[in-house]
Amino acid sequence: MPAKSTSSAKAQQNSASSNQDLPSFVVAELRDRLLQWYAKQGRDLPWRRNQNPYHIWISEIMLQQTQVKTVIPYYERWLQAFPTVEALAAASQEQVLKQWEGLGYYARARNLHKAAQAIAHQHNGQFPTQFEAAIALPGIGRTTAGGILSAAFNQPVPILDGNVKRVLARLTALQKPPNRSLEWLWQCSTTLLDPVHSRDFNQALMDLGATLCTPRHPNCGHCPWSAHCRAYALTMQNDLPVSETRSPIPHKVIGVAVIWNDSQQILIDRRRQEGLLGGLWEFPGGKVEPNETIEHCIRREIQEELGIEIEVGDRLTVVDHTYSHFRVTLNVHHCHHVSGIPQPLECDEVRWVTLNELDQYPFPKANIHIIEALKQVGPPSSVNPSP
Ligand code: SF4
Repeated sequence: MPAKSTSSAKAQQNSASSNQDLPSFVVAELRDRLLQWYAKQGRDLPWRRNQNPYHIWISEIMLQQTQVKTVIPYYERWLQAFPTVEALAAASQEQVLKQWEGLGYYARARNLHKAAQAIAHQHNGQFPTQFEAAIALPGIGRTTAGGILSAAFNQPVPILDGNVKRVLARLTALQKPPNRSLEWLWQCSTTLLDPVHSRDFNQALMDLGATLCTPRHPNCGHCPWSAHCRAYALTMQNDLPVSETRSPIPHKVIGVAVIWNDSQQILIDRRRQEGLLGGLWEFPGGKVEPNETIEHCIRREIQEELGIEIEVGDRLTVVDHTYSHFRVTLNVHHCHHVSGIPQPLECDEVRWVTLNELDQYPFPKANIHIIEALKQVGPPSSVNPSP
């Protein structure tokens, strides 16, 4: 292990970290050490048990912004529902979103569906082996293409996901936030990549970030790269990567209506394809304006979005949910349909459904909490049909 540094040595090594050239003997040693560690410590993951490009592609997309333990059951259910790229291409968007329900970042599911149709129709059902053709598919960026092409075909294509950025930023003691040094980090990943064992090298790099070089408390004592890691030599492993200064995320207060009709049906609407949660179903509602009560907001939003009059009744539940760039508080009320035929003025479709039918539709996670609350309490007494 390298000796721990004094502060003046830290300053010297910090400036040395601006030199991105790793000597070739160091690169060779880093490759060997990582591959040896992976042979013993690599994770046994379902998508590593074969080299089927379809399976690997699905796992790569699911793993974007989502942890392995969350992905595994989704991945297994997905392959049962859509065992081949042709089966995925032939499914409806609603079936695809239903399989994805609860996994978040729904654009990933919509893009998987579109990409499957492109592969089925333009690539003869085969995942493209050319990098340019792979990144031309919806939802596949540079690092996802690298992950798929290296894992499925052992092609020497580098990766740079969140875990890899962190590992490389520490290995080189990068003095800037990783997202401000992306080209530099791409070069680093390219230089380090073992051209012969690209599949195992990239998988090993991901495992290193996921199991040892973790965001907090990296386990440097067991790391195969500790002898060459600048952050470790500088005892800066807990201080790197340099973080971006972020302003607090905005908070939106939303009024949400569970609108019942006299047949004990509930009104749901399908969000427009463009934008957040596109194509998913939801309970209608909208943002509370300054100085507006929740009840007034709900009546106004339902008139604007659906063109109907409602009575706002008791509160059903309150749901807090955090998305990547904002958080919401949903104030959900039972409501009763008074007059007018619902129209999809600001959505793609509206539908009256029974409480039991709600499970057939894909909903965002925050709305699933509303469905759970509804199942517990059922319809309010005011909408029970008259005897
Ligand atoms: S030595 Fe520590 S900081 Fe450096 S790569 Fe390994 S786990 Fe990460």
